[in-house]
Amino acid sequence: MKLVDKYDRVHDYLRISLTDKCNYNCIYCNPSSILGGAAKDDLLSFEELLRLIEFFATKLEFKKFRFTGGEPLVRKGIFEFLEEVGKLKRKYGFTTGLTTNGSLLKGKTALLRETAIDNLNISLDSINKDKFKSITGKDDLENLLDVIEESLTAGYSPLKVNAVVIKGINDYEIIPFVEYFKNKDINLRFIEFMPFGSNEWERNGFISYEEIKSVVERKYQLVPLASESNSVAKDFQLADYAAKISFISSISEHFCGTCNRVRVSSKGNFRLCLFAEGEHGINFKELYRQNYSDDQILELIIDAINSKWEKHPEANELAVLAENNMMTIGG
Ligand code: SAM
Repeated sequence: MKLVDKYDRVHDYLRISLTDKCNYNCIYCNPSSILGGAAKDDLLSFEELLRLIEFFATKLEFKKFRFTGGEPLVRKGIFEFLEEVGKLKRKYGFTTGLTTNGSLLKGKTALLRETAIDNLNISLDSINKDKFKSITGKDDLENLLDVIEESLTAGYSPLKVNAVVIKGINDYEIIPFVEYFKNKDINLRFIEFMPFGSNEWERNGFISYEEIKSVVERKYQLVPLASESNSVAKDFQLADYAAKISFISSISEHFCGTCNRVRVSSKGNFRLCLFAEGEHGINFKELYRQNYSDDQILELIIDAINSKWEKHPEANELAVLAENNMMTIGG
């Protein structure tokens, strides 16, 4: 059966946070005030995660699974886990994705592609060495640029590169980003900066996708592409070049009407939206501990999806939802 909410949105895409720990300390995402992370025993174990994936793929016809974090690749044993995910993927025919900062991928991109991951998104907020370090806390730009090349060689096509644009921090890099990637098989995605309780320090940093797009268009022509259904991105071909450019307007033009996603946090909380858990209180770890059967869990999920809101609140309201941050939810 399909997981449909009261607004007739079919949900078939699960985003799973594998950990709330990260080896970067990005100023807008992981401020040191929230560093720490869950104890290992509080995380969904790999066995539980495999059960969860199989549950969504078989009971609810989910077609897409994406792993995120924190930084998913800091989790010990991740490649062995992904090998098992690959087996499920081939058995049930779903697709998989990984959102990563890429820092731990050197020498492993081919393995990643062979074992389990179809679609790779690498986050990169600056192509300036010093700026990169000041955003992430790590002097790691060269490593990442190598990993990006390696991912292309491994066959990720196009490779998605995600840049969050923040006014006064990296907005001057919009054109340098395009210049750097324009001849590569890369989908460069500019993401609107989202307000969360924990990144109060920079609420003025918001730039709308329209503004980002107009900066690109001062120098380049953008040809609209038909976006995939349920896509959160507005996609364009960079005329005369190999790269594609996309804009993700989570704040200025939300895409809740076509939302097909639900999430599970690293501790096993079921989340109906990036911006809210919902009233249901479902935690997979708890349910597994209490020996709930998959059929019992199915009933709870069907019940919960009916409480999904039609759309998330506006930016100014989101900014005060202090309990939210990308590290624990998974971006
Ligand atoms: N560590 C991985 C990574 O760097 O991609 C996965 C987790 S990270 C939370 C996922 C994505 O969320 C990254 O692309 C990051 O830039 C983005 N992100 C984090 N905080 C954000 C915010 N306040 N607004 C927009 N995007 C944000």
